[in-house]
Amino acid sequence: MGDDKAAIITGSTSGIGLGVAKALAGSGMNVMLNGFGDADEIESIRSGLASETGVDVRYSGADMSRPEAIEAMVDEARAAFGRIDVIVPNAGIQVVSPVEDFPLDRFELLMRINLFSVFHLTRLVFAGMKERKWGRVINIASAHGLVASPYKSAYVAAKHGVVGFTKSIALEGAEHGVTCNSICPGYVLTPLVEKQIPDTAKARGMTEEQVKRDVLLAAQPTKEFATVQQIGALAVFLCSDAAKQITGAALPVDGGWTAQ
Ligand code: NAD
Repeated sequence: MGDDKAAIITGSTSGIGLGVAKALAGSGMNVMLNGFGDADEIESIRSGLASETGVDVRYSGADMSRPEAIEAMVDEARAAFGRIDVIVPNAGIQVVSPVEDFPLDRFELLMRINLFSVFHLTRLVFAGMKERKWGRVINIASAHGLVASPYKSAYVAAKHGVVGFTKSIALEGAEHGVTCNSICPGYVLTPLVEKQIPDTAKARGMTEEQVKRDVLLAAQPTKEFATVQQIGALAVFLCSDAAKQITGAALPVDGGWTAQ
């Protein structure tokens, strides 16, 4: 599927983003990784993926909360690959707090990373996609883009925002060969989820084991976590010709959570 196509996957040094980057690189696309972490570990992920797949794998440490850093990352990707055909805005953080105590700076930071960066990345690559008459915007939203849980007001607001943004962009790209969809994962056992278990336990007065069983998987009828490989495979499918008429959709990968 490659045809020298190139993708930027934000927040891809870990978890779902890394799973999507591996899947897209495996399908033959050049990829730009992004995210935070230990420099040596990131370099070993980058070079390992390049040698496994034979595609060009680059890395940018751009901070998705800063529009000027997003612009610099896009310039770097364009210089390296000559084009950007696919974006997967995925970088995200979680903050768990009752609304009356919600730290103001954390609410704003979450919005900048989880929602505003999706707008910035899209606006910077959209004209090129339209010109080439092919593009894929694959937003990693969440089941929390469709339904809510308590104590996650910032996250739920941002993810519902991503799902709405997706629909608008789908309409803007519709006659130009550019599709835009949201993938809405349920719980995937990544560092993001592991980190919120202690806070959720505190907010609900539960043990960490109870949170996993009675809060996280309680919402998921299959009683199984979704995997990063399953999300990566869906992203590859959305890039295929078979998915050309799928646009503006919010696609749950949530073990039946949002069917309830
Ligand atoms: P993760 O914590 O494993 O990975 C997050 C990635 O984002 C990391 O690479 C991190 O370095 C990067 N990141 C964080 N802040 C950044 C910033 N300011 N700039 C650039 N990169 C930044 O998380 P994950 O679980 O893989 O989550 C990825 C996405 O999937 C998020 O948008 C999250 O909301 C969404 N999601 C996750 C789950 C889940 O259960 N894990 C469920 C639904 C949706």
